[in-house]
Amino acid sequence: MRILIVEDENKTAAYLKKGLSESGFIVDIATNGEDGLYLATHHHYDLIVLDVMLPKVSGWSIIVEIRRMYPDARVLFLTARDDVEDKVKGFELGADDYLVKPFAFSELLARIRSLLRRGTTQLSDNLCISDLTIDILKHKATRNSQRLNLTPKEFALLVMLAQREGEVLSRTLIAESVWDINFDSDTNVVDVAIRRLRQKVDDPFEKKLIHTVRGMGYVFEER
Ligand code: CA
Repeated sequence: MRILIVEDENKTAAYLKKGLSESGFIVDIATNGEDGLYLATHHHYDLIVLDVMLPKVSGWSIIVEIRRMYPDARVLFLTARDDVEDKVKGFELGADDYLVKPFAFSELLARIRSLLRRGTTQLSDNLCISDLTIDILKHKATRNSQRLNLTPKEFALLVMLAQREGEVLSRTLIAESVWDINFDSDTNVVDVAIRRLRQKVDDPFEKKLIHTVRGMGYVFEER
């Protein structure tokens, strides 16, 4: 799951990115309205967290543009203002939810999870492939009823592979899906991450699920 945070307060943005990354989300940050609008309209995000008061382009203008291009996008407004009028305006312009600062991170996380569940995405919360079961919302993966102890990044990688079961995925595509936009695609980070994931997901079990496709990338499937 990929989230865009448009927030001009660096401290808040960094704090949200850290918290959401630890919860297994892939997080991109824009620190002004212009960058936020560009990212929101040039990449796919499962959810956009949008501050209202932003330099260059306001959150109001951004949501109008997002709604025009992606009627189904999920947008949560974040704001220091708490007047009713703003709240009403936010919902009128198409916000899916609204959170007033300061807020507890746990509340933001609960709202985000609820919005993602409510969303129109076809992807289900649970994936079962062979003896592997993934509960996406609970961040739990098991094989043969044994809990797999995965880092948030490993979990995100596993979900991405499993959601595209049977498809050969290039390293570039994997990198774009699991790392944020600042990821350096020249490195062999993807291979290293896959190797680590295999140690946990495949090595202890007889049946292998992650396969290398020479010269192309990786495929996740039961063979
Ligand atoms: Ca602001």
